[in-house]
Amino acid sequence: MLRRAGSSLRHFLLERKSSAGYSSCSREAKMSRPVQARRLEGIDKNIWVEFVKLAATYSKVNLGQGFPDFPAPDFLQEALKRALSEGSHMLHQYTRAFGHPPLVKVLAQIFEKLLGRELDPMTNVMVTVGAYQALFCCFQAFVDEGDEVVVIEPFFDCYESMVKMAGGTSVFVPLRPKAPEDGKLMSSADWQLDPAELASKFSERTKAIVLNSPNNPLGKVFSRGELELIAELCVKHNVLCISDEVYEWLVYDGKEHIRIASLPGMWDRTVTIGSAGKTFSATGWKVGWTVGPDRLLQHVRTVHQNSVYHCATIAQEAVAQGFQRELTLYGKPESYFVQLPRTLQQKRDLLIQSLVAVGIKPIVPEGTYFLVADISEFKSDVPEVPNSDEPYDCRFTKWMMKNKGLAAIPLSTFYSEAHKNNYPNFIRFCFAKEDATLKAANDILQKWKKEKTS
Ligand code: PMP
Repeated sequence: MLRRAGSSLRHFLLERKSSAGYSSCSREAKMSRPVQARRLEGIDKNIWVEFVKLAATYSKVNLGQGFPDFPAPDFLQEALKRALSEGSHMLHQYTRAFGHPPLVKVLAQIFEKLLGRELDPMTNVMVTVGAYQALFCCFQAFVDEGDEVVVIEPFFDCYESMVKMAGGTSVFVPLRPKAPEDGKLMSSADWQLDPAELASKFSERTKAIVLNSPNNPLGKVFSRGELELIAELCVKHNVLCISDEVYEWLVYDGKEHIRIASLPGMWDRTVTIGSAGKTFSATGWKVGWTVGPDRLLQHVRTVHQNSVYHCATIAQEAVAQGFQRELTLYGKPESYFVQLPRTLQQKRDLLIQSLVAVGIKPIVPEGTYFLVADISEFKSDVPEVPNSDEPYDCRFTKWMMKNKGLAAIPLSTFYSEAHKNNYPNFIRFCFAKEDATLKAANDILQKWKKEKTS
């Protein structure tokens, strides 16, 4: 009986193969329709994947992707060790979906100080897998088919793809450079929004604006006046603000980082995003957060609970302890939030010196650990290819990695397709590096300059 059943199944499969031209078990079976969802169209390429690979292959000195090559602070490393050795064994298990309770509690305490309002740790704070997932959750939570999102150029490149994946359209508005005073280096503050141009981008289709201050890649720290202008438009057009403030502690020369959520009328319409990776120089931990009103965060939680659920409990526990320390030392000279920008400002100035010495003009950043510089001085080494699809800065950066061993990121990465060729002579360096790394970069630039002039 069984044998008969088996032979008839074989017979059935053979028949199907001959009639359909393939076996249902064949590995070559192809679907006759696209397998990928439509929302993935046009976002399959990722510049970071390409440039990180090139940097790993060719560069001796990597000032490309934004991560420190110096250690995370001892107190954070100790916190992780303590959580492992002395903490409850339950730290190896799932925790609360929207954030490990000790972490959301301490984040609420910190942000109560920063925003000047009472916060409920359970409803006004949510922990995410890095700021990246916080961004993803926000776009998924708020942006519908047909919605427009205002994005200020240059921008952290994932905003555009994430808006698209949510079914929305990015509407770009540029920061426009104005010439610095005679004899002065350009500052990131010289890159400004034109108020009329910004206003023209808002309409009844606008659902949100993405603000990134301090801004990656320029290092611009938006002034109170600029933030008030954005806030006014958000209120007037009933628009949400997704405020990416991952570099909130990395601000230099006594500049103040102002949180847009603290401006009148903005708390109710803003989600503020942060990152322990940037805050504690531990980008690989991928712990981020969102802070905002429950009426917004409830929808961000819906996306989160239906995607990643939560990030590693033990990393959240250690970050919570790191913040606990900072809360105790708040505003004191020993605070990491005071020490890190001080150290980074020195590193920024070291890199500026190296660049200026070889004729590369830096745009002095007021914040972040990035610096954009004008490489026109070295342009003759990498000639233009007329009508090339690839922006000049991309070709220059690849050439520099392969031939000089120095990695950076082309500025066009941070522009929309339509504006990729607007600033062909600028590249971005990351200066969150050991002084030895910055010195090695200096040596490469000096040698290059000598070769050019000899
Ligand atoms: N926003 C900006 C502006 C960034 O530069 C980065 C990291 N480069 C992120 C978000 C992502 O942060 P995280 O590593 O915490 O996911």
